[in-house]
Amino acid sequence: MRWRFILFVFLVIGPIGCGERPREQTGGPLVITHVTVIDATGKAPARNMTVVIRDGHIAAIDSTIEVPTNATVIDGTGKFLIPGLWDMHGHFTDATEAAFPLLIENGVTGVRDMGGELAKVDGWRKEIADGTRIGPHIVRCGPILDGPTESKHHVVVNNPAEAVHAVDSLKQVGVDFIKVHRNMSRETYFALMEEARKIGIPVAVHLPSTVTAQEASQAGAKSLEHIEMLVASAAYQVGPSAKRVVDVLPVITGAAGDSIFATFVKNNTYYVPTLVAYERGFVLWGSDTTKVAGRARVQGHHLRLVTAMHRAGVPIMAGSDFSDWALVAGVDLHNELALFVEAGFTPMEAIQAATIKPATFLEMQDSLGTIEVGKIADLVLLDADPLEDISHTRKIRAVVVGGRMVPVMELRSRFTDPHS
Ligand SMILES: [Zn+2]
Repeated sequence: MRWRFILFVFLVIGPIGCGERPREQTGGPLVITHVTVIDATGKAPARNMTVVIRDGHIAAIDSTIEVPTNATVIDGTGKFLIPGLWDMHGHFTDATEAAFPLLIENGVTGVRDMGGELAKVDGWRKEIADGTRIGPHIVRCGPILDGPTESKHHVVVNNPAEAVHAVDSLKQVGVDFIKVHRNMSRETYFALMEEARKIGIPVAVHLPSTVTAQEASQAGAKSLEHIEMLVASAAYQVGPSAKRVVDVLPVITGAAGDSIFATFVKNNTYYVPTLVAYERGFVLWGSDTTKVAGRARVQGHHLRLVTAMHRAGVPIMAGSDFSDWALVAGVDLHNELALFVEAGFTPMEAIQAATIKPATFLEMQDSLGTIEVGKIADLVLLDADPLEDISHTRKIRAVVVGGRMVPVMELRSRFTDPHS
């Protein structure tokens, strides 16, 4: 199993990058010359720029800067610079530390961890902060709060009082947000949201099966997770007659959909569709071709829902749901961006869904999310223009994390099977 995983990873990530090994960094600044900067603010690309990185931050971006003599220089001629990417839905406890090098070499410099063992995640987070481990910025929720369930990493809250207690305790231990899950009862959900609002902690919501998306948003959900949960909550709304996706479409598409999405916009509720996770599920595990075709049709509805949501102005973020199954940390974020473009995003909008949108959502837009002077230097250097073709975000030459040039080739070699 482990061998197969390694081989799988090798096959998937093998063709990416293949640049020369970055030079050792001296005490001086890191400078990328003659590069096209796609800053993710939405501005047109700036060609032939020199980007100076000092003390972990972007010190200058200009076309007329003289390169300091003590600088480590990367020639960016013919290359493109985008901000480091965020995966807004991942699970480190399940993916284990194997995820870190994969994320970094695929340009993912930030992750929102959506549930797992807090102590474990915090241990890794500390190693990253100390510089003993190379990894992304992590925001995390610790355990998932849910109704009756046996799922791992879920803490069961049976009633409003237990929910209030759990939210207070988690806030006290310092989690960044609360994650709510599917089996929670309506009254418990609303009590939890009220408490979270009172004490000022954001809540990410995997829709409970008895709460509609509109209700969840009105109650203050900061983000909603997985596009198929919009369909599932619509099934609750429609009732027992809802047997197939087409039965619930009337309450989430057309004018009804517009009303739901207007509510999201009004409340600034973000959506993280994780389209790639749904797709991977049916591609890998479908042995019954009729079933596979059916699920492909459902995915078509998902894409159209994302299109409608995006047109309505709902802020949408990229997340892969990497964990311990068939999703590959880092790699699959690029697949999610491609699916966004399939759903009608421009490549710039897809990049923004993994950069400026997450930074704004996390209230970190002053230090992350774009390429601007003063921000933390999380950068991805590409060999081809991602605005021309979103798949070019995979053509990674180099990654800079917190101003540190990461030896991408060295990371990659750890995944090369010596016997292959
Ligand atoms: Zn998840």
